[in-house]
Amino acid sequence: MNVHGYRIHQWGGPLRWEAFDVPEPQPGEVRIRVEACGIGLTVLNCIRGDLANAAATLPRVPGHEIVGRVESVGRGVTSPGVGDRVMAYFYLVCGACKACAEGQDSLCANLAGWVGVHRDGGYAPFAVLPARNAIALPDSIGAAQATAIPDAIATPLHVCKTRARITTGDVVVVIGAGGGVGIHMVEMATLLGGEVVGLEASEQKFDAIRHAGGTPIMSRSFDEIDLRSSWGASRPTVVIDLLGSQASLTWGMEALALGGRLVVLTTFRNVDLPMSPRDIVLRELTILGSRYASKAELTECAELVVSGRIHPVVSHVVPPEGVEEVHRALRDGTLIGRGALDWNL
Ligand SMILES: [Zn+2]
Repeated sequence: MNVHGYRIHQWGGPLRWEAFDVPEPQPGEVRIRVEACGIGLTVLNCIRGDLANAAATLPRVPGHEIVGRVESVGRGVTSPGVGDRVMAYFYLVCGACKACAEGQDSLCANLAGWVGVHRDGGYAPFAVLPARNAIALPDSIGAAQATAIPDAIATPLHVCKTRARITTGDVVVVIGAGGGVGIHMVEMATLLGGEVVGLEASEQKFDAIRHAGGTPIMSRSFDEIDLRSSWGASRPTVVIDLLGSQASLTWGMEALALGGRLVVLTTFRNVDLPMSPRDIVLRELTILGSRYASKAELTECAELVVSGRIHPVVSHVVPPEGVEEVHRALRDGTLIGRGALDWNL
């Protein structure tokens, strides 16, 4: 099947709008007619080659936050079926190892890479993926809104519920609160009972942070952040760092209350977090890495959206020709929440 879509021909290179063939689904695979695909910083990181940059995997269609409908299935596929609405699971997991069997999918021992990096993604109108990467999605959620579920909402569920175990009484700081993952992190931590402050360097995102349930605080300079104005003498019990700079991580460690938890999610190379074992012991701190989410968490997030407990923040929805414009807004730090490419616009 010949289609028009976006591909990159070198890691870090430009998007090219071009015609190419989408293959028939092989045994164990499904072909998805893409309704919409999320546009966020992770896509830019993937395009840049931050996750992997082998030349052999080029050219590549980027975009991992795929929402669509199964159009055809390869041999041996019993689920999903033709016509089923699905969202893509980001990690190319084996489905057979101990972690996969136990539902800890993102810790798969035989990870084969990522959708949009090692397999073609949703910056084209069709995508062929392993059937186990197509997760059922209810029909009632609009396509662009739904693109926030498989990563921008699922990642916060994994952080807030599974890793940091946020509950009533927790005081939570989200660093980088106005972005695609950040704004849903504020919503999720609030939903679980946390009192949430969102640190954000762009004042135009403050209203969205308030709307998500958080109190915005300017974080252009970490030296000048005064949390006392928000909570008096109480310190955060949980700090979630989405910025991943040495300044933000150091600030997060220092800000924590006794017994506090620091959650880190960024994967930038060459960033160190200086820490003192004495300090960690005397303040009984916990440092938690958080890696994506499980398939069951994606399903739980879809239910949270259907029931109205989590509201996707997808502020900029564009037709195919608008993709570069959203990329620019991401690079400039002006995009509130997520963007999305809608193939039906
Ligand atoms: Zn596995």
